[in-house]
Amino acid sequence: MRIPTFPDLLRARRTVRAHLPPTPLRPAPALGPGVFVKHENVQPTGAFKVRGGLNLMAGLDTEARRRGVVGYSTGNHAQSLAHAAALFDVPCAIVMPIAPNPLKAAAVRALGAELVEAGGTFDQAREHAVELARERGMRLVSAADEPEIIAGVATAYLELFEQRPDLDVVIVPVGSGSGAAAACLVAAALAPDCEVIAVQTSASPAAHDSWRAGELVARPNRTAVEGLATGSGFALPQRVLRARLNDFRLVDDAAIRHAQWVMLRDAQTLAEGAGAAPLAAYLAEPERFAGRSVALVCTGANASEAEIRAAVGAG
Ligand SMILES: *Cc1c(COP(=O)(O)O)cnc(C)c1O
Repeated sequence: MRIPTFPDLLRARRTVRAHLPPTPLRPAPALGPGVFVKHENVQPTGAFKVRGGLNLMAGLDTEARRRGVVGYSTGNHAQSLAHAAALFDVPCAIVMPIAPNPLKAAAVRALGAELVEAGGTFDQAREHAVELARERGMRLVSAADEPEIIAGVATAYLELFEQRPDLDVVIVPVGSGSGAAAACLVAAALAPDCEVIAVQTSASPAAHDSWRAGELVARPNRTAVEGLATGSGFALPQRVLRARLNDFRLVDDAAIRHAQWVMLRDAQTLAEGAGAAPLAAYLAEPERFAGRSVALVCTGANASEAEIRAAVGAG
């Protein structure tokens, strides 16, 4: 697997721009002085992942498009693939862990993809998807071990550093690590002095622990925060993170719920748990970020009704 080059990212930008306008970067002084929010929550599928799916699907040859794709996901990667598959007229099957977020499941079906519920966790859904892809001769699309997905996601960070070239810090939530790896690739090229900080939940610390250990490790996956719920590290993003990531923090699920509430109250922004995790990391270390300009990447908005009620209740 090849780490995307800067020309790959520029090509991805041409592809993504043809379908998606840039998302806003807004100052959010009520969250903290010097804080900006990058609003990926306003994307058509409600999450940044739409960028990766578009770039991957656009790069498939005719034969691969005819055979179709299989993805596995707790929801947003699924919606990204389903959205791009519909756009390029590619058959698409998605494996989700049993009893998925109903909002995300309904969105995948509405986009015309086939939804298969299998396994209790993300990793069990992955095993089922591998099997399904083999049976049907379809292309299995990993959540992150895909250079085209990382290049597509990187277009968010090309925008970010154009919108604010002088950022001191970017905080990115991590599940598989595609987003944080993308941030690292762009920062290395455009903003070498900007710190890139990743955040995951202590209830599912596989990506964090893989980065600290310098090798891929498996960990319990117990979080209720869908976008951050992975049980093992992903090879390609971890290679990028090892080379460039400045720091990797853990916050707990309760701090993420609280941050969701603060996003609603002080930034008028509905974030799903994963999209509020950067704010949770920011609020955990106020002295560290004092006097610096900090971008919090609000990666997604797809909170279920139960999750929204819980976040408001936590406030
Ligand atoms: C997938 C996802 C993440 C984590 O991104 P990775 O690239 O898998 O690390 C964060 N937030 C949201 C809303 C997501 O859907």
